[in-house]
Amino acid sequence: MRECFEVRDTDVGGRIGELTVPRADVTVETPALLPVINPNLDTISPRRLAAEFGAEILITNSYIIHGTEDVREAALEDGLHDLLDFPGAIMTDSGSFQLSEYGEIDVTTEEILEFQHAIGSDIATPVDIPTPPDVSRERAADELETTQERLEIADDAETGEMLVSAPVQGSTYPDLREAAGHHADGTGLDVFPVGAIVPLLNDYRYDDMVDAVAAAKRGLGADAPVHLFGAGHPMMFALGVAMGCDLFDSAAYALYARDDRYLTVRGTRHLEELDYLPCSCPVCTEHSPDDLRALSDKPREKELAAHNLHVTFEEIRRIKQAIRAGNLLELVEQRARAHPTMLDGYRTLLDHAAQLERSDPVSKGAFFYTSHESARRPEVLRHHQRLDRLSVPDSLFLTEGGPARGDEFDDSWRVEPPFGPFPRSLSKSYPFTAELPARTDRAALEAAAEGVARLAEANPDAEITLGHDGWPTAVLERIPSGVSLIDLTDDQ
Ligand SMILES: [Zn+2]
Repeated sequence: MRECFEVRDTDVGGRIGELTVPRADVTVETPALLPVINPNLDTISPRRLAAEFGAEILITNSYIIHGTEDVREAALEDGLHDLLDFPGAIMTDSGSFQLSEYGEIDVTTEEILEFQHAIGSDIATPVDIPTPPDVSRERAADELETTQERLEIADDAETGEMLVSAPVQGSTYPDLREAAGHHADGTGLDVFPVGAIVPLLNDYRYDDMVDAVAAAKRGLGADAPVHLFGAGHPMMFALGVAMGCDLFDSAAYALYARDDRYLTVRGTRHLEELDYLPCSCPVCTEHSPDDLRALSDKPREKELAAHNLHVTFEEIRRIKQAIRAGNLLELVEQRARAHPTMLDGYRTLLDHAAQLERSDPVSKGAFFYTSHESARRPEVLRHHQRLDRLSVPDSLFLTEGGPARGDEFDDSWRVEPPFGPFPRSLSKSYPFTAELPARTDRAALEAAAEGVARLAEANPDAEITLGHDGWPTAVLERIPSGVSLIDLTDDQ
């Protein structure tokens, strides 16, 4: 068990956890958002982030601090907590991003960690190599090797109570990401950023992001706190959390505000195009869009940054509540409707249903079938996997309708799209208590047919009859030929 992180509650791959940060003497509840602070710019003060927005942790860039003489001197003299005036935990980034943007920086891993320790960082980051997407496999593997050497140096370095993060790289090669996760997990390091995700997010490649996270998570242990590095748009937090990410950082709230961009959970809007403000935060209740447009540059930037933060922290709270209530996937489904590329992200998440099933609770409040994607949820997959274990009588009637007529059959089970067959004794158990639309869809019927096929294949000697409500031929073709079919709508 990793000492600094404890999982309290789970839903799908998402979890509510506690990250203990000993050097700051604070415990951060996850999923958590780390606002990015540039010590040279004061959009929203760190003190205000804590007091007004409830920020428990923030992140700042040690490379910028190192490169700005007066800030560097003040940080070394008084420490980051005094310099920034922030009571929570402070994580520092090493500047790997700047390294990739502006070329080499000539400091060693020991030096950069020593510097982060000297300025009072609570969670430090070694200089890794953030390999961009789509590079050659050879380059991705070479750079990963360098990152791994540096993580081993970081692991051996004397860092006291300061936690140290171990970035997981590997570009768009899932096997390299998984190996990187496994290697990072094997070090004694503490927090695990999935790195070089920003280029994917900038290109709306949420599907590739999900694959990268899934691969990293396969390598990392279940007790590893995972940071989706550079992901700050509230639209995609639910997707990231459902995949098993615990920490997010946002520079977006300030960067977007500088550009008159207004964040919502359904995407970004430009202040120019807003006739109404679809938000009830203090900024949006006290101003109309015209009020905001009338402000001069600096005050308008501050107001927009405050709104952007409100909507960002609100989404984190909504996600935590969804984990508690066991309806995180319903929230992901809603967010997936914000943009077609988000839908690609959600559909890719469902490709990993078997992986997510392992952490998904066996019982929850309710399963709401709200899109045809719901037919691929981990609960459906789990039921299909468990059908093999159910004992089946010699002759069995599976029916969408009521119990079987007379004593034609030894027993009668219910068939319900998307789950397929289950004994009536399980009707009151999750997920069969699901709320389903009366007008079912093709995906649900196909999933139910898969369930029937699975049961039949596991019990080749049983005589199975399926009573269905007029299933289409293409769906019935999925049922093995040994199963007898009765169309219940013929009786009416
Ligand atoms: Zn607002």
